[in-house]
Amino acid sequence: MFITCADSRIVTAAITGAEPGALFELRTAGNVIPPYSLTAPSSEMATIEFAVLQLGVSEIVVCGHSHCGAVGALNAGGIDHLPAMRGWLRPGQPRQASGPAMRPEGQEHVRAQLEVLLAYPFVAEKVAEGSLRVHGWFYDIETGEVSACAEHAFLPL
Ligand SMILES: [Zn+2]
Repeated sequence: MFITCADSRIVTAAITGAEPGALFELRTAGNVIPPYSLTAPSSEMATIEFAVLQLGVSEIVVCGHSHCGAVGALNAGGIDHLPAMRGWLRPGQPRQASGPAMRPEGQEHVRAQLEVLLAYPFVAEKVAEGSLRVHGWFYDIETGEVSACAEHAFLPL
Protein backbone atom coordinates (compact mmCIF):
# COMPACT_ATOMS: atom_id res chain seq x y z
CA MET A 1 0.00 0.00 0.00
CA PHE A 2 1.28 3.45 -0.88
CA ILE A 3 -0.08 6.50 0.97
CA THR A 4 0.99 9.82 -0.45
CA CYS A 5 -0.09 13.37 -1.18
CA ALA A 6 -2.78 14.19 -3.71
CA ASP A 7 -0.21 16.41 -5.47
CA SER A 8 -0.02 15.18 -9.08
CA ARG A 9 3.75 15.76 -9.17
CA ILE A 10 3.98 12.54 -7.15
CA VAL A 11 3.93 9.85 -9.84
CA THR A 12 3.94 6.69 -7.78
CA ALA A 13 4.82 4.34 -10.63
CA ALA A 14 7.87 6.47 -11.48
CA ILE A 15 9.02 6.59 -7.83
CA THR A 16 8.56 2.91 -7.10
CA GLY A 17 8.87 1.28 -10.51
CA ALA A 18 5.69 -0.61 -9.72
CA GLU A 19 3.68 -2.04 -12.59
CA PRO A 20 -0.05 -1.25 -12.83
CA GLY A 21 -1.91 -3.31 -10.25
CA ALA A 22 1.05 -3.71 -7.91
CA LEU A 23 0.22 -0.81 -5.57
CA PHE A 24 -2.91 -0.07 -3.60
CA GLU A 25 -2.88 3.71 -3.31
CA LEU A 26 -4.39 6.22 -0.93
CA ARG A 27 -3.89 9.87 -1.71
CA THR A 28 -4.84 12.70 0.60
CA ALA A 29 -3.90 16.36 0.83
CA GLY A 30 -0.53 16.33 2.57
CA ASN A 31 -0.58 12.50 2.86
CA VAL A 32 -2.48 13.03 6.09
CA ILE A 33 -3.79 9.97 7.89
CA PRO A 34 -6.73 10.67 10.20
CA PRO A 35 -6.57 9.37 13.77
CA TYR A 36 -8.32 6.03 14.23
CA SER A 37 -11.87 6.56 15.48
CA LEU A 38 -14.86 4.28 15.09
CA THR A 39 -17.13 7.17 16.09
CA ALA A 40 -15.83 9.26 13.19
CA PRO A 41 -14.99 6.77 10.44
CA SER A 42 -13.56 8.15 7.23
CA SER A 43 -12.85 7.01 3.71
CA GLU A 44 -9.16 6.98 4.59
CA MET A 45 -9.68 4.72 7.60
CA ALA A 46 -11.84 2.40 5.51
CA THR A 47 -9.22 2.27 2.76
CA ILE A 48 -6.44 1.38 5.20
CA GLU A 49 -8.67 -1.22 6.87
CA PHE A 50 -9.50 -2.78 3.51
CA ALA A 51 -5.84 -2.91 2.49
CA VAL A 52 -4.68 -4.52 5.72
CA LEU A 53 -7.55 -6.79 6.70
CA GLN A 54 -9.00 -7.72 3.31
CA LEU A 55 -6.11 -7.49 0.85
CA GLY A 56 -3.54 -8.47 3.45
CA VAL A 57 -0.87 -6.03 2.27
CA SER A 58 2.51 -6.75 3.82
CA GLU A 59 4.01 -3.26 3.46
CA ILE A 60 2.65 0.27 3.85
CA VAL A 61 4.68 3.25 2.67
CA VAL A 62 3.72 6.75 3.78
CA CYS A 63 5.44 9.09 1.34
CA GLY A 64 5.71 12.82 1.86
CA HIS A 65 7.38 15.23 -0.51
CA SER A 66 9.24 18.51 -0.76
CA HIS A 67 7.35 21.70 -1.66
CA CYS A 68 4.12 20.31 -0.15
CA GLY A 69 1.47 23.02 0.02
CA ALA A 70 -0.52 21.19 2.71
CA VAL A 71 2.53 20.89 4.97
CA GLY A 72 3.26 24.56 4.34
CA ALA A 73 -0.27 25.56 5.35
CA LEU A 74 -0.10 23.40 8.47
CA ASN A 75 3.19 24.86 9.59
CA ALA A 76 2.06 28.39 8.93
CA GLY A 77 -1.10 27.74 10.95
CA GLY A 78 -2.99 28.72 7.83
CA ILE A 79 -5.88 26.25 7.86
CA ASP A 80 -8.55 28.36 9.58
CA HIS A 81 -10.37 28.58 6.25
CA LEU A 82 -10.24 24.76 5.84
CA PRO A 83 -12.66 23.45 8.49
CA ALA A 84 -12.60 19.84 7.25
CA MET A 85 -8.81 19.69 7.47
CA ARG A 86 -8.82 21.58 10.75
CA GLY A 87 -11.15 18.97 12.28
CA TRP A 88 -8.77 16.24 11.21
CA LEU A 89 -5.35 17.57 11.93
CA ARG A 90 -3.34 18.60 14.89
CA PRO A 91 -1.37 21.41 13.36
CA GLY A 92 2.10 22.09 14.72
CA GLN A 93 2.98 25.37 16.27
CA PRO A 94 3.19 28.05 13.59
CA ARG A 95 6.83 28.69 12.80
CA GLN A 96 9.11 30.08 10.17
CA ALA A 97 9.37 27.75 7.20
CA SER A 98 12.90 26.44 6.58
CA GLY A 99 12.61 27.39 2.91
CA PRO A 100 10.32 26.81 -0.05
CA ALA A 101 11.09 23.09 -0.18
CA MET A 102 10.18 22.59 3.50
CA ARG A 103 12.16 19.35 3.73
CA PRO A 104 12.55 19.21 7.54
CA GLU A 105 8.88 20.06 8.05
CA GLY A 106 7.78 17.53 5.45
CA GLN A 107 9.90 14.77 6.97
CA GLU A 108 8.66 15.54 10.48
CA HIS A 109 5.14 15.43 9.05
CA VAL A 110 5.76 11.92 7.66
CA ARG A 111 6.93 10.76 11.10
CA ALA A 112 3.74 12.18 12.63
CA GLN A 113 1.58 10.31 10.09
CA LEU A 114 3.47 7.07 10.83
CA GLU A 115 2.62 7.51 14.52
CA VAL A 116 -1.05 7.93 13.65
CA LEU A 117 -0.99 4.88 11.38
CA LEU A 118 0.75 2.73 13.99
CA ALA A 119 -2.02 3.63 16.46
CA TYR A 120 -4.60 1.88 14.25
CA PRO A 121 -5.30 -1.25 16.34
CA PHE A 122 -5.18 -3.69 13.42
CA VAL A 123 -2.00 -2.08 12.07
CA ALA A 124 -0.32 -2.31 15.48
CA GLU A 125 -1.41 -5.95 15.76
CA LYS A 126 -0.07 -6.95 12.33
CA VAL A 127 3.19 -5.08 12.89
CA ALA A 128 3.62 -6.80 16.27
CA GLU A 129 3.05 -10.24 14.75
CA GLY A 130 5.49 -9.45 11.94
CA SER A 131 3.09 -9.70 9.00
CA LEU A 132 3.08 -5.97 8.21
CA ARG A 133 5.90 -3.45 7.86
CA VAL A 134 5.37 0.32 7.80
CA HIS A 135 7.80 2.73 6.16
CA GLY A 136 8.17 6.50 5.90
CA TRP A 137 9.54 7.89 2.65
CA PHE A 138 10.26 11.40 1.45
CA TYR A 139 10.32 12.34 -2.21
CA ASP A 140 12.30 15.36 -3.30
CA ILE A 141 10.55 16.92 -6.28
CA GLU A 142 13.63 18.88 -7.41
CA THR A 143 16.08 15.98 -7.48
CA GLY A 144 13.84 12.94 -7.74
CA GLU A 145 15.66 11.48 -4.73
CA VAL A 146 13.69 9.27 -2.36
CA SER A 147 14.82 8.88 1.23
CA ALA A 148 13.55 6.58 3.94
CA CYS A 149 12.81 7.30 7.56
CA ALA A 150 15.41 5.82 9.87
CA GLU A 151 15.71 6.29 13.61
CA HIS A 152 17.28 9.75 13.56
CA ALA A 153 17.16 10.92 9.95
CA PHE A 154 15.86 10.28 6.46
CA LEU A 155 18.49 8.35 4.48
CA PRO A 156 18.67 7.97 0.67
CA LEU A 157 17.16 4.73 -0.59
ZN1 LIG B 1 1.74 17.63 -0.94
